[in-house]
Amino acid sequence: MHPRETVDRALHLSTLGLIDRQVAELCNVSIGAVQKWRTGSRRTNDFEDERRHRCCPRCHGRKFDSQAYAYLLGLYLGDGHILLGKKGVYQLSLACCATWPGLTEAAGAVLSAVMPTSSVSYRTLSGYIEVKSYSKHWACLFPQHGPGRKHERKIELEQWQREIVDLHAADFVRGLMHSDGYRGMNRVRRHFNGSDRWYEYPRYLFSNESTDILALCGEALDTLGVEWRYNKPNQLSVAKRAAVERLDEFVGPKY
Ligand SMILES: [Zn+2]
Repeated sequence: MHPRETVDRALHLSTLGLIDRQVAELCNVSIGAVQKWRTGSRRTNDFEDERRHRCCPRCHGRKFDSQAYAYLLGLYLGDGHILLGKKGVYQLSLACCATWPGLTEAAGAVLSAVMPTSSVSYRTLSGYIEVKSYSKHWACLFPQHGPGRKHERKIELEQWQREIVDLHAADFVRGLMHSDGYRGMNRVRRHFNGSDRWYEYPRYLFSNESTDILALCGEALDTLGVEWRYNKPNQLSVAKRAAVERLDEFVGPKY
């Protein structure tokens, strides 16, 4: 199997008028191969099929964008789900709030970056947009999928996922915050010199029903040295000024 670039180069040289032997020498392949590519015509389509069928980073060792994956994993754990459809094809869908078109666009872009052989589709539902991609291999990339809701089952990362999350903790946290997170102003009343005063400060909240997912968020924040605490059993908050400023560097308000 020759790389696509070699096939393309050989075909290009042929169209320039070089004979098969010259093309073969220049591309360092056999004359037979050049002949087959030039006359067999289906060779490039075969290559395309091959590329589609060997699309999985887990099953086929395809190189993939692990930084994009870290963000997508955050989105998936927040607002995503995987369904098994016909013929063993999985549907990965992300529920994006219609209020934030920039985040919907980012979700589509990251699905394409992680699984470039699958196209992305959008469906508008009441109040949100479903961003979807189909592949037989989504389940390989998200072994956390399973029946029922995420908070009703154990969510644990596999070793290879942990390595990616450690390496790209900021992207993972950004994905979590862009799905189930929120940056807003908190108003607190303080008693001072005999009178009440109101103070406002920005903070981040991350809410999720799954204690496992909350813990993963906390661990990634620890990796980044961002101070956080549990605000409620199903919510963690980042409120210290330095910690908020650190998150502002790579998360920021929704858009
Ligand atoms: Zn696979």
